[in-house]
Parts: sequence; structure tokens; C-alpha cells
Amino acid sequence: MSKRSSAISSSTPAEPFDVLLARVRACTVCAPHLPHSPHPVVRGSPSARLLIVGQAPGRRVHETGIPWNDPSGDLLRQWLGLAREQFYDESRIAIVPTGLCYPGTVKGSDLPPRPECAPLWHPPLRAAMPAIRLTLLIGAYAQAHYLGKRRHRTLAATVAAWRDFAPDYLPLPHPSPRNRGWLKRNPWFEAEVLPMLRERVGTLLAASDNGGAPTSHLR
Ligand code: SF4
Repeated sequence: MSKRSSAISSSTPAEPFDVLLARVRACTVCAPHLPHSPHPVVRGSPSARLLIVGQAPGRRVHETGIPWNDPSGDLLRQWLGLAREQFYDESRIAIVPTGLCYPGTVKGSDLPPRPECAPLWHPPLRAAMPAIRLTLLIGAYAQAHYLGKRRHRTLAATVAAWRDFAPDYLPLPHPSPRNRGWLKRNPWFEAEVLPMLRERVGTLLAASDNGGAPTSHLR
């Protein structure tokens, strides 16, 4: 991490969550590389139990500030067994993409998340959300950042090896309608991974309803 990044992201344990969020939302570290003014999109709270890490905001999310408010989000909510109001309850579910700002597109495809972002902001945000018990790693960029060399050669192989990363992390494919082909080619995902995912999310959120009391199979 550069001296500049370190100075920006350093925090004290006593820093209130809203102060950290304000610092994140004021970040301009990679502004010269972005197609628009920085607009970091991040949701969460110190009581959040589930963290969703995707790729980076697209243009629509950049404009609205609402992540997963599209057909991909609808499918993700279906995977999780959650209604919209549950999904957007920041007291229980945090959403922090690998890159917090819209990186732009090239030839109609989204550019990768800015490489400065995750090393800069994920550590302090995670430290400020100590109740997180499960992190969903959606897509290759989130898996690369969190799993590094523990990833397998393909995304399908990494997802199929989900037990290797439990109980802290769960790698998932992107729930984009463009990924229907992947879902068809890998029927084990819907048959094996989704029921386990729904059960874990249900247990996590029930535990948070219960004041965060630990359950038998969660840490
Ligand atoms: S992408 Fe991340 S590092 Fe870059 S300006 Fe946005 S919040 Fe800052």
C-alpha cells in the first residue's frame, strides 16, 4: 500500500462507523482513472452478519447509488431466499464491491474494478463490521482479492470447491442473466450450493434477529 493510501485508510478502533463511511464516500484516490467523478457505493453497519462482495458498480448503480437493483440483483435475492427489504437491510447485510466506483467500459464491457480500491478500503470496512460471519465472493475479481492463490484454475472449479473456503467465504458465479449458460452447464450449483446458501443465510439472519446469538454450525 502506498504512503498516500495508508494515510487515507488508517483508522483507530474508536472511529465511529459513520465517520469511516464518510471517509470512504469522500475518496478520490483513483479519480484520474475513472470516467466520472468518484461515487463509492457501499452499504453496511457494525451489526451486519452477511457481506456481499461483487465486482464494481455499473453505470446504473453509479447514477442511482443502489447496488443490485437490476435483474442480476433479482436473481441474487432468489439465490439467497431474501425479499428486497431484507436484502437492503444494512443492519444485517453489508454490500461492498471489490471496486467501489464505476470503472467505465471498453467496447461495451465493464472494466475491471480499480486495483487501488479493495486493498485500501476492504480491511478497514471489514474491521468495522466485526459481526460478519459469511462473505459472498461474487465473480472472479472478488475471489481473486479474498482467496488469492487458493482459487482454482476456473471460476467453476473454485465454486465447486466451496467447502475449502467455509465457513468464512463462499465463492459464487455472477447472477447475471448473461450467465444462464454457465448455470445450465453446471447444474450441481443449483442442486447443491443454493440450498446450502439459503440455509446459511437464513440461519445468519435468524441469529441477528436473536441478538447475534451463535448457532450450532456457525462460528
Ligand atoms: S474506486 Fe475506490 S479507491 Fe478509487 S476513488 Fe472510488 S473509492 Fe476511492
